[in-house]
Amino acid sequence: MGEKFFTVSFDDGTGQDVRLISIMEKYGIKGTFNLSSGLFGKKSYIRRVGDRAKSASQIDCAHPEEYVDHFILSKPDALRLYSHPNVEVASHGTHHLVQTDFTSEQAHEEIERDIQALSELFGCRVTGHAFPKGSYNENVLSVLRNSGAVYARKVSSNQPPEDFSVIKDGLLVTPTCRHNAPFAKELLQKFLDTPAMDGDIAFHMWGHSYELDYGTDISSYERIEELFAMVAGAKDIVCVTNGELYRRF
Ligand SMILES: [Zn+2]
Repeated sequence: MGEKFFTVSFDDGTGQDVRLISIMEKYGIKGTFNLSSGLFGKKSYIRRVGDRAKSASQIDCAHPEEYVDHFILSKPDALRLYSHPNVEVASHGTHHLVQTDFTSEQAHEEIERDIQALSELFGCRVTGHAFPKGSYNENVLSVLRNSGAVYARKVSSNQPPEDFSVIKDGLLVTPTCRHNAPFAKELLQKFLDTPAMDGDIAFHMWGHSYELDYGTDISSYERIEELFAMVAGAKDIVCVTNGELYRRF
């Protein structure tokens, strides 16, 4: 009989993480926050139109309801918030650049330096990375290997996975689903109902805490609290950070 693991990861280090981490603490959820060491304190917005979300430097005053804050925490605030027993810090690229066409030098600047800066700031060895927008190439993977990374997270598919086996291909991790996927609650219930008969299984939920500001049925603080309560109510789930999970595989 295997074990059942639950982990979350959230990207970008925005102010909404404060409320999210307090909800994680309430339900004993553990997880990983992917930060960009070159962007502490940077303020912008996310504009949401339908299913699309785009970065914006300013709010269009004709449609303020379409925007949520993307205010990245300052370095001292980040140090305070993420130095928390339920939280692991991982890299998200120094400047959150798309990595598909990186040279070795760019990969070094964006990944190795980010891992070094975050390790120094938090006083621990950072061993994880989340690819900005899921983008990477061979130069990126090579620098990750040389930086001592244990895992790096891609983005999930828009379809639910067929099973809950841990999908790790070398450094490449595929999470199970976004917290605000239309099928997230149903899929989580399926995971809770699945016995770990043939070895360990895991549910890796990911996203951005600013999405909780959308305030919709599937993308809100109330909804994520409902999901975390489902996990907390199941007695056979082990809550772990991404690093605690992927170091086992
Ligand atoms: Zn990001």
